[in-house]
Amino acid sequence: MLKKIKKNHPLADLTTFKIGGPAEYFIEISAKEELQETLAWAKEKNIQVSILGGGSNLLISDQGVKGLVVLIRNEKLSVHGERMIVGAGVSLAKALSRAISCGLSGLEWSNGIPRATIGGSIRGNAEAFSCSMSDIVETVEIFDTKKNKFEILSCNMCFFGYRKSIFSANKNLIIWEAVLKMPCKDKKQIEELVEKSLEFRLDKYPNLPSAGSVFKNLDPQKIKKKNPLFFDREIKNKVGRQGLVGAGLIIDLLGLKGKTIGSAKISLEHANHIVNTGRATADEIAQLISLIKTKARDNFKIDLREEIQYLGF
Ligand SMILES: Cc1cc2nc3c(=O)[nH]c(=O)nc-3n(C[C@H](O)[C@H](O)[C@H](O)COP(=O)(O)OP(=O)(O)OC[C@H]3O[C@@H](n4cnc5c(N)ncnc54)[C@H](O)[C@@H]3O)c2cc1C
Repeated sequence: MLKKIKKNHPLADLTTFKIGGPAEYFIEISAKEELQETLAWAKEKNIQVSILGGGSNLLISDQGVKGLVVLIRNEKLSVHGERMIVGAGVSLAKALSRAISCGLSGLEWSNGIPRATIGGSIRGNAEAFSCSMSDIVETVEIFDTKKNKFEILSCNMCFFGYRKSIFSANKNLIIWEAVLKMPCKDKKQIEELVEKSLEFRLDKYPNLPSAGSVFKNLDPQKIKKKNPLFFDREIKNKVGRQGLVGAGLIIDLLGLKGKTIGSAKISLEHANHIVNTGRATADEIAQLISLIKTKARDNFKIDLREEIQYLGF
């Protein structure tokens, strides 16, 4: 076994939910050669590999994760004019802080999102307030586990969409580094947006461990097609800025705000957040998710899709 690999490594504290069992094998990787060597080892031993970023969009099973969990720790960060070269393991907070000091705009929306890394955020095309990672990604350096080599993808090749990218569709691609193109802006303007973003989150988000929004927002046309009466009565006038219907609205309409199973609770502040009020288990969170999905389907003919990712299920 490679020297740095640990066995039965606890993962709960590496997630914002603070939930989940250990990784069978675990390694933190900060150098390219190490990544290549580790993946070769896992391939040879036929060990399944999972990638961990900041753990802010993850539900890890109570039983833990079989195989090898790789925590990407590439913390490279440098600025060259309007370009930021940033490792996948750099937190959004750190990248934002450097952007502010250099007068670069494009990450203001992320202020107040805990732990999220550049890698996880590119994978899910993280966004808020109509700004997203895809607006600033110029290129992404990836390791393709099938081809066993590093490659550079342009933004177009990443096929970004709402909460998706080529990386969410293809698990063989590990994000290693990115070049972000961020326009120069007046520092005061940047700081104002950064403040606003934090204020919004402090006001709207629960102050307990969560993984952010559990479900993706919805296309209003799909709701209209399946359930026109419900659409006219409850949804028509509540379509959000991006032309989507908040999943939180649907959960709220189901009367599920505050619903609790064990120590897992649907937040009273934001119905699309499930919080860990103490010692919640992954099983309790999963039960709440399943309850919401069943009720949304049975009552409103709506198929809610998870935004959070599962590990070890
Ligand atoms: C309080 C709170 C508020 C939030 N608000 C927002 C918000 O406003 N907007 C938003 O978009 N999200 C939000 N989130 C969700 C979350 O922060 C984002 O989805 C974030 O981008 C996930 O990044 P991460 O590094 O934590 O990824 P993780 O949770 O560690 O992983 C998520 C997925 O990405 C994969 N992954 C991670 N790193 C890599 C890599 N290097 N290469 C390939 N795959 C990788 C993992 O395998 C997993 O499938 C919020 C979360 C919390 C807790």
